[in-house]
Amino acid sequence: MGHCIDGKEIARQLRAELRTEVQGLVAEHGVTPGLAVILVGQNPASQVYVRMKKQACADVGIVSFSHELPQETSEEALLSLIYTLNNHPDVHGILVQMPLPEHINSLRVLEGIAPEKDVDGFHPNNMGLLAIGAPHFKPCTPWGCMELLRISGISVAGKQAVVVGRSNIVGKPVGLMLLAEHATVTFCHSQTPQLPEVIARADIVVAAIGRAEMIRGDWLKPGAVVIDVGMNRRADGSLCGDVAYDEALPRVAAITPVPGGVGPMTITMLLKNTVIGAGRSIA
Ligand code: NDP
Repeated sequence: MGHCIDGKEIARQLRAELRTEVQGLVAEHGVTPGLAVILVGQNPASQVYVRMKKQACADVGIVSFSHELPQETSEEALLSLIYTLNNHPDVHGILVQMPLPEHINSLRVLEGIAPEKDVDGFHPNNMGLLAIGAPHFKPCTPWGCMELLRISGISVAGKQAVVVGRSNIVGKPVGLMLLAEHATVTFCHSQTPQLPEVIARADIVVAAIGRAEMIRGDWLKPGAVVIDVGMNRRADGSLCGDVAYDEALPRVAAITPVPGGVGPMTITMLLKNTVIGAGRSIA
């Protein structure tokens, strides 16, 4: 029977450590880490994410500066706010909640954030630094996956890792991070033939697809480790991952559940990046 990797508990421990670090920054340097959170429009899912991020900041002692802008905000107005925040000494991280309304060019917005405040790690400079093995800010969800492996004592070096999904926010960067830790990495996507056969060779599977329980238990190599990033709803409304958890659990060495696996880690790593940014501002 496989081990269930408890992301909720690991995230709780990491947040407790962050709370202590924040107290240290305040007491020793008079610096309170600050995160600016920008939301454009009223996408209900985005509103929930923004609320969770602000709450998580408050829990560890990070100040959040909330900027909720109307749907019709122009790209120029958004960029002008970002430039102000780029120069604001109390702001150590800037987060623009995606997706943005269609009339705004997301890449131009991401490029507008100062790379040294890009706590999401999405700025092309930061993606480039990650790709050459010199990361400045690691993107949060992929870093959360790596932390789950590290803290669970799962070694990556020399392993066959298969990443299913190649998005810029999850698949691609998590593959780069596994490579940096010396795994042999295979990227799969919607045009990969014989996906079950590729997955059958994997010691570590990272699923970032967005398709409910697409990866079946019998696709997996016995003793594999599964990190399931997917967040999907079944027909009955319940939440599930990209991997059929109940089928996989008896077969694997370890697997993350959905919910309670990667999800809680993403915001935790955002908090960590903000604290790192604040720490760098002292030097
Ligand atoms: P995207 O939709 O951007 O990417 C999905 C990837 O899956 C694409 O590369 C796509 O291939 C690939 N794919 C789609 N269908 C198949 C298939 N049948 N076989 C193989 N590959 C396929 O999604 P994201 O990367 O943004 O997110 C992935 C999942 O992770 C989602 O469920 C999302 O909700 C979740 N997520 C969870 C987070 C968390 O904190 N827990 C954070 C971010 C995302 P192609 O490129 O060819 O189209």
